[in-house]
Amino acid sequence: MPIDFAAKKALFHLPEGVIYLDGNSLGPMVKTAPAAVDRVVQAEWGELLIRGWNKAGWMAQPAALGNRVGKLIGAEPGTVVLGDTLSIKVYQALASALEMTPKRRVILSDTGNFPSDLYMAEGLCRTLGGQYRLKTVAPEEAMAAIDETTAVVMLTEVDYRTGRRHHMADITARAHEMGAITVWDLAHSAGALPVDLAGAKADFAVGCTYKYLNSGPGGPAFIYVAPRHAEVARPALSGWLGHAAPFAFDLDYRPGAGIERMRVGTPPVLQMATLEAAMDVWNGVDMAEVHAQSLRLQDQFIKGVEARVKGLTLATPRSHLMRGSQVSFRHPEGYAIMQALIAEGVIGDFRAPDILRFGFTPLYIDEDDVARAVSILARIIDYGTWDKPEFKARAAVT
Ligand SMILES: *Cc1c(COP(=O)(O)O)cnc(C)c1O
Repeated sequence: MPIDFAAKKALFHLPEGVIYLDGNSLGPMVKTAPAAVDRVVQAEWGELLIRGWNKAGWMAQPAALGNRVGKLIGAEPGTVVLGDTLSIKVYQALASALEMTPKRRVILSDTGNFPSDLYMAEGLCRTLGGQYRLKTVAPEEAMAAIDETTAVVMLTEVDYRTGRRHHMADITARAHEMGAITVWDLAHSAGALPVDLAGAKADFAVGCTYKYLNSGPGGPAFIYVAPRHAEVARPALSGWLGHAAPFAFDLDYRPGAGIERMRVGTPPVLQMATLEAAMDVWNGVDMAEVHAQSLRLQDQFIKGVEARVKGLTLATPRSHLMRGSQVSFRHPEGYAIMQALIAEGVIGDFRAPDILRFGFTPLYIDEDDVARAVSILARIIDYGTWDKPEFKARAAVT
């Protein structure tokens, strides 16, 4: 059955007068989230206290929600678990992957990767005594740069800045052919486009839930380990909840079965409640249809901007095959223009040095929103209303 996008939009709370084109950074709240949190706080934490771990299912929730997220990314049942933040999950996946390719010393990534992923890799290399090296190449060169020295190919499928999309299956196949392991970051993929981890034979994948999966600020991240590695991958962050028997309180660590070993410590139960509420939105939703609609909205935006707005250069590839769910334009005064847009209720974001970023999330953005966003952007540029000191002062979060 085709998605009723208007009905989906009604499930979200969007502030009056706001056109929200930043779901790629922080997804909006689903209307059921406050009641879900209230229930967990009052009826579970308040009344059950410590009994909530068993009676309210808090202990089983990271894997149960993992299966729901897993369905959106083509993961086999029992291969995804929630917890921690994405930076932590990147570290964990990378450390496990490196142990599986013990003779090699190079982590390959690209210059479009999100800095935290690169910083985590650098930090891990230092911890491992400097024998390992992080090598970054331009995104278009990633595939060709895989060779017999590559231990791990660590890439974010959709570039956070330009929205450029890697071909996951082809790069994974090339990595395997060269004897390397893959770690895919799905921060800008999960909930944005169809992902087929099993079909692509991905080894490890990680992602966050506060962007396209709408779990709210600080929502838990997820990690995927392919079934063929599940009992082999050794968790570098060997916390007690990843132990085979956490409540045996053994002095020695024994990894838990399969994906359970990728848990670290106590899960964020309140934030799991907002994620659980947000996951209901995806019932019966076909990701291919979501992405197709996103591409239509993106095309409408690109066409409108190119016809009516001067001075902006498209940074996102034109090919649909190489696009995620966002459109980026470059402008030397991008920061001030974005602040002027936000002041008029069109919320996107800015990424240094010159990128204006707009997310097109069809579950709560429609053609009217896109048309209005184009008009407001055109007005701001035509009248130069961005050129004010108040729009040039940088805030801590851009
Ligand atoms: C958003 C994002 C992160 C953020 O990591 P956190 O630990 O959740 O702050 C990391 N990597 C990528 C690719 C991202 O897009």
